[in-house]
Amino acid sequence: MSSEEGKDLPPHVLIFPFPVQGHLNSMLNLAQLFCLADFHVTFIVSDFSHRRLLRHSTVPATFARYPGFQFRTLPDGLPDDHPRAGEGVMEITTSVAAVTVPLFKKMMLHENFLASAARRPVTCFLADGLMSFAADFAGEHQLPLIYFRTATAAYFWALFRFPQLVEAQEFPFGGKSMDGIVESIPGMEGFLRRRDLPSFYRVDEVRGSNLEKVVSVSSKIMRAQAAIFNTCEDLEGPIVAEIQKHVPRIFSIGPIHEQMKSRLTEKKAEASIITASLWAEDRSCIDWLDAQPPKSVIYVSFGSITLVTRDQELEIWHGLLDSSQRFLWVMRPDSVAGNDVDDGISTELMERSKEKGLLVEWAPQEEVLNHTAVGGFMTHSGWNSTLESIAAGVPMVCWPYFADQMINSRFVSEIWKVGLDIKDSCDRLTVEKAVRELMEVRKDEFLKRAENVSKLVKKAVSKGGSSYTNLDGLIQYIKSLVI
Ligand code: UDP
Repeated sequence: MSSEEGKDLPPHVLIFPFPVQGHLNSMLNLAQLFCLADFHVTFIVSDFSHRRLLRHSTVPATFARYPGFQFRTLPDGLPDDHPRAGEGVMEITTSVAAVTVPLFKKMMLHENFLASAARRPVTCFLADGLMSFAADFAGEHQLPLIYFRTATAAYFWALFRFPQLVEAQEFPFGGKSMDGIVESIPGMEGFLRRRDLPSFYRVDEVRGSNLEKVVSVSSKIMRAQAAIFNTCEDLEGPIVAEIQKHVPRIFSIGPIHEQMKSRLTEKKAEASIITASLWAEDRSCIDWLDAQPPKSVIYVSFGSITLVTRDQELEIWHGLLDSSQRFLWVMRPDSVAGNDVDDGISTELMERSKEKGLLVEWAPQEEVLNHTAVGGFMTHSGWNSTLESIAAGVPMVCWPYFADQMINSRFVSEIWKVGLDIKDSCDRLTVEKAVRELMEVRKDEFLKRAENVSKLVKKAVSKGGSSYTNLDGLIQYIKSLVI
């Protein structure tokens, strides 16, 4: 297609997420935001995720409304029955690099950067912040690159400052107390402890470690023309300001799932919220919640990746029961590590749970968090879950598992003050105490603060708000890239 022929066509954004649930959720929301701006969008998805989206989610119906949207599927390089939780996630990184990326490059070159009669060649490559190859690929082909960091700005910043931590001899920890304060990260002085750093910092030797990998991929951002963060001024303004000293063109447009709702309402579009579940949602929990008193239930979920040991699960279980609160708990079938999966769950435990609790394998989480019966969330502090909870005004008990979750939970408890952080311990007493404190002892105080923060983030994504304005800026920026 000559440039003359395609001159009236809209910008064409290519989105390439890391193929796991949390990343897909925010990037599909972003894709829909671009569709609402009448952009053309190509979305790369793994065969594995695509089949599951077709089976379990509203994604096909949602995107059928946008003729400018298309999926392109590629294998993630792993057999369908390969575990995709816990350490298995790091294996996805390797297999995507070995299998998906070469196929992707071949597709791009063979298909003239996805141009067709109805679609201009890709205007801009919007790659997941974990896609290390994107910087080289975009550079080689003069393709404008925008990195999308799906986790907190604070997480990114803590990784970006790795050289300074080494220089100040704050890393490696060398056996020093995990409660010691980290001083070399501007914007987090005074409250960030060693234990709150991204979990990858918990190594003695960098060479060959996951820390080395995540620090290296984070530094690639310097080679992109711009970066997107799923955060907002009110949550992480000072941190983003620090990052901007190194990466000037940052668009903080979050919480993206709320931005979606805001834009759909504004367009008076049918307010269909994307549920991008890779698992079948058990909707029986909504009927169960309907029968519970207001703000009486603590929702428990550790996301799509967390692996617990049977011991940890039992401690949390006893803690919840001992707290005497009602609970709705998502127990993914693949969430317990090891082979002893059937051990330790007594009939007594199951019977006690029936009185006050409900266990499901996967829940419609956003709907659950916005249900009037839910008054708390025991979470692994994944960033999507945290944002969903903040937006719904639900206070949290945080029990982070890995990566960014360590730092997210510190911000929840110390900066936004909308929850309690019990990282690194989940014995029944700790759980019982934290759940009681959140749901009973300091219930009103937490609910009030959570409501205030919810108002702030909703304002940020409404007309005139910081994230709303930044999304308009991003859309204008992408339009300016059209040659
Ligand atoms: N989620 C869901 N149902 C569940 C558990 C989780 O829909 O039963 C969704 C949740 O709403 C969130 C995502 O899965 O959008 C998990 O992403 P997050 O970043 O919180 O954690 P991760 O799974 O990446 O560790």
